[in-house]
Amino acid sequence: MALDPRRSEIWKALGIGPEWILREEEGEPERQAASPRAACPASGHQDAIARAAVPPVSAPTPSAPRPAPVSGVPETLREDRFVPPAPRSASAATRPAQAAPAPATRAPSDAAFLSEVDSADWERLEALLRDCKCCGLSRTRIKTVFADGRPGCPIVMVGEAPGADEDIQGKPFVGKSGQLLTQALGAVGLERGTDVAIINVLKCRPPHNRDPRPEEVSVCRHFLDRQLALLAPKVLVLMGRPAASAVLGTDQPISRLRGSVHQAEISGRTVPAIVTYHPSYLLRSLTEKEKCWHDLLLAKRTLAGAAPQA
Ligand code: SF4
Repeated sequence: MALDPRRSEIWKALGIGPEWILREEEGEPERQAASPRAACPASGHQDAIARAAVPPVSAPTPSAPRPAPVSGVPETLREDRFVPPAPRSASAATRPAQAAPAPATRAPSDAAFLSEVDSADWERLEALLRDCKCCGLSRTRIKTVFADGRPGCPIVMVGEAPGADEDIQGKPFVGKSGQLLTQALGAVGLERGTDVAIINVLKCRPPHNRDPRPEEVSVCRHFLDRQLALLAPKVLVLMGRPAASAVLGTDQPISRLRGSVHQAEISGRTVPAIVTYHPSYLLRSLTEKEKCWHDLLLAKRTLAGAAPQA
């Protein structure tokens, strides 16, 4: 709509606002831009003035749809404005998202390493152990734990795995359970390092003293088998279920295995084996100490050739 100038002059003289006419009737497109919103003070015409003052909006073309902006959403995050971020550098665009974790074992070079373990002498075996990375425990250990004692000890005791104290000192059975074992051996007249050599199935401490995993026992038994072959014990004492399982190949509970003499195969040799509780279990079950004492007496009688065979 546009103002009719002549009538507006008349209405203005009468104190009435200007008259508005439809733009189609007007036929003067050049005046559209000059239509002043404030030219009509009559409140009853405000809506008409507002509509007339809105500039014409061209209809959107089908090829360029533009969604209405969403209030409150930053301009750069609007869906119609999103542009995928460019890579920070050319190398970043081609770099793998994350480096693959290191494998738990060193295959295939493990085969050569373990082959050397299988034929090493006592000193070389200890040196190889310090370098072993054949299972994941190498990443969490502080020290490898080799043995207390050496070839020539007639009795060999086998435990499960190092604990926190052993991990720090690099020696087996040096914590509270180790002190209890030393006392128990002394009670039957046996001395660590002379009469008895002590080793573990695993040579590295499992985190939080968890149970050894089958794959860890499987690879670490290269060290265990070589140690037993070199120690050539006359009697074996297996402390706890993991040790009995690794050497005798049985999952029976200690309560069934203890009290008799079993047969273990070491480098083609049959060796008498006695099963007893692990010292750490005895620390929690003091009433079982007496059974351990009887088991050690059985080992001593077996060494003397007086114990009945299972
Ligand atoms: S637990 Fe045995 S196999 Fe595993 S890293 Fe230690 S020495 Fe090697």
